[in-house]
Amino acid sequence: ATPTALMVGSGLGAENGILIRKGEAIQVMKDVDAIVLDKTGTITKGKPEVTDVLTFGDMDETRLLELAATVENNSEHPLARAVVEAARQRGVEPGKSTGFENVTGKGVKAILSDGAVGVGTASLMEELGVEIAAEPSTQKEQLEEQAKTAVYVSYAGNLIGLIGIADEVKEDSKQAISELKKLGLKTIMLTGDNEKTGKAIAQKVGIDEVIAGVLPDQKSEEIRKLQESGHMVAMVGDGINDAPALTRADVGIAIGTGTDVAIESGDIVLVKGDLPGVLRAIKLSNATFKKIK
Ligand code: ADP
Ligand code: MG
Repeated sequence: ATPTALMVGSGLGAENGILIRKGEAIQVMKDVDAIVLDKTGTITKGKPEVTDVLTFGDMDETRLLELAATVENNSEHPLARAVVEAARQRGVEPGKSTGFENVTGKGVKAILSDGAVGVGTASLMEELGVEIAAEPSTQKEQLEEQAKTAVYVSYAGNLIGLIGIADEVKEDSKQAISELKKLGLKTIMLTGDNEKTGKAIAQKVGIDEVIAGVLPDQKSEEIRKLQESGHMVAMVGDGINDAPALTRADVGIAIGTGTDVAIESGDIVLVKGDLPGVLRAIKLSNATFKKIK
């Protein structure tokens, strides 16, 4: 490509709500045959809300939310903000805790006056030595089949509740994915969330393939595997945990409303954070580079 062609490309990009940070990206884009999309904040709005509060033993809902919010108040995770917000809506403020720890891809834990509180996955509960009976496990699966993320809450070694959290899909995700598929692209969802929730969301937006339960540091490894199997890969993501995968992909596409780290790792930035921007980038790539050949 000539510098002029790249400039024309970038100028058109700006009009289309696409910021091209690396000129080559728009040239590579026309050869991409697989698009990997992060779930939370990319396909979904990334603004989850608590929809279900289930308690076990003699725990009541408000107290459960208070305990969970006390731990989550130390976390910036979207799920954490949802839990704190739900507690506030019931008139309770997060309390005091010590020894807060963020267990990457699994959840959070901290020490309260009467013991440790954990909020997160089954794997976090296992780490805390908390037993999960058959019923809570089934209830969790039911929430996940409704496309919700469900997190366990434990207190002083016992399972005390289950919180269901829903994150709506963005209005234009489904349409954009259907058009990407029409262009012959393979679409894949990549998420740290569990497989059931991932698949339920994928079904809503028409994505065929889901890679779930991926720990943050493994996302770029999944991109590498796709590249090794012969794909030219574009990755779309918004989170800190997506940054290495955005760098690894042949084209990294950052959601402009996402984290700074993701934006800095993107070759292309979707300024308004909407998935149809990916289609505009592909069309721009085709238009720009067919003209000058
Ligand atoms: P995603 O890729 O969807 O953003 P993450 O890797 O951030 O997912 O998290 C994976 C899973 O770990 C979540 O679905 C949740 O079950 C658990 N988790 C992570 N952080 C928290 C938190 N602050 N509170 C509760 N659960 C959490
Ligand atoms: Mg995300």
